[in-house]
Amino acid sequence: MRLTRYFLPVLKETPKEAEIISHQLMLRAGLIKQQAAGSYSWLPYGYRVLMKIQRIVEEEQNRSGAIELLMPTLQSADLWRESGRYEAYGKEMLRIRDRHERDMLYGPTNEEMITDIFRTYVKSYKDLPLNLYHIQWKFRDEVRPRFGTMRSREFLMKDAYSFDLDKERAVAAYNRMFVAYLRTYWRMGLTAIPMRAETGPIGGDLSHEFIVLADTGESGVFCHADMLDKPIPSIDTDYDGDLTPIVKDWTSLYAATEDMADMAEYEAAVPAEKRISARGIEVGQTFYFGTKYSAPMKANVAGSDGQEVTVHMGSYGIGLTRIVPAIIEASHDENGIVWPVSVAPFEAVVINLKAGDAETDAACDSLYAEAGAAGIDVLYDDREVAAGGKFATADLIGVPYQLILGPRGLKEGQAEIKHRRTGERETLPIASAVSRLKALIEPQRRDKA
Ligand code: ATP
Ligand code: MG
Repeated sequence: MRLTRYFLPVLKETPKEAEIISHQLMLRAGLIKQQAAGSYSWLPYGYRVLMKIQRIVEEEQNRSGAIELLMPTLQSADLWRESGRYEAYGKEMLRIRDRHERDMLYGPTNEEMITDIFRTYVKSYKDLPLNLYHIQWKFRDEVRPRFGTMRSREFLMKDAYSFDLDKERAVAAYNRMFVAYLRTYWRMGLTAIPMRAETGPIGGDLSHEFIVLADTGESGVFCHADMLDKPIPSIDTDYDGDLTPIVKDWTSLYAATEDMADMAEYEAAVPAEKRISARGIEVGQTFYFGTKYSAPMKANVAGSDGQEVTVHMGSYGIGLTRIVPAIIEASHDENGIVWPVSVAPFEAVVINLKAGDAETDAACDSLYAEAGAAGIDVLYDDREVAAGGKFATADLIGVPYQLILGPRGLKEGQAEIKHRRTGERETLPIASAVSRLKALIEPQRRDKA
């Protein structure tokens, strides 16, 4: 992408309304624009990150055996009357009436609708296990939307729903999602710790919140320090096998959110030098809730003996539009965002130090073309502006690698690569610059590990 043909509205000043660094940087680097309280447009640069995150979520959901579909945002109130949640949900639910005076709502979650789909088609134990998910906008009329897309009213969520014959199989489905979540966040460059959690309005008796530690996080958490650097299950994990040992390994160390933490238990379980009491951002949550929805909504199947069985369910959310600020909270410096390669909107930026100069243009144009042909997501700063401004923009928007070339380097046959995260610079022959970039980038994509 040539910057002269792109739409990247970068701001010089830090907007006053933004309290936390991720919100400031998302506005300054042209990722989002606020449209109303808790409602944001995703501008092209932000949308690229969001779509990279979405792709990782889809790949890991699919790998674990979940199947993607798409349900509407507007739902009929009648379904929610069946489960009893239409009255119970409270003011966070946006209630709408259509021209025929029918009660509708903008879905804050989809347990009822997916249970309706399930009961319509699935009649036999032979069709189980089943896990269906979608990635769709949700609306929750939060009392205090704040921190940009961290807590907005309209937000993009992945929500998966598992259906099984009994509790034991439902827990196996829970474990598959648990492992998929560990891989999902790791692939995004995040350290997200699974913590025992309360179930809230979703209900149920087994739940974990996946938490990214950050001072600006809204959740208080207590955990064992060794949770921060545990190895992640590999791409070869057998999702048809028994995942209990992996889940046990992750849940045997103490990690709980504020509402669930018992101080005496925490202090007994974690030696003083390993105690982490911190703040964190909830980037996902998993629930097993048995027959809470399937019983009132009559989601039954015929078991192997022909008897009707009410299915056991779980639901599993990931907040895609919250993950973007969570990554920025975890990965930035005084000059701007520092994207992990795996989610970076562009993996590299070619910086032409003298746009308008025919020879430099020709050399930079061909570096840009070569990088694109090598499969690198590359941005090309071909604007006729001073070098200082280009460096500042590149740092602000956080592209992991800058490939810099000007007339002097061209004369010497040398280009420069700047590593955004460390500030390290390497000078190398122009002819080998792209293969070096590729060697730096590929292992950090985390798509094969
Ligand atoms: P919170 O406690 O932060 O209000 P929640 O527990 O009500 O969230 P869930 O029902 O568990 O949310 O939703 C699944 C995921 O969706 C959350 O883990 C979070 O990442 C994301 N999410 C929930 N509410 C919001 C919101 N208002 N804005 C952005 N993301 C959200
Ligand atoms: Mg939650």
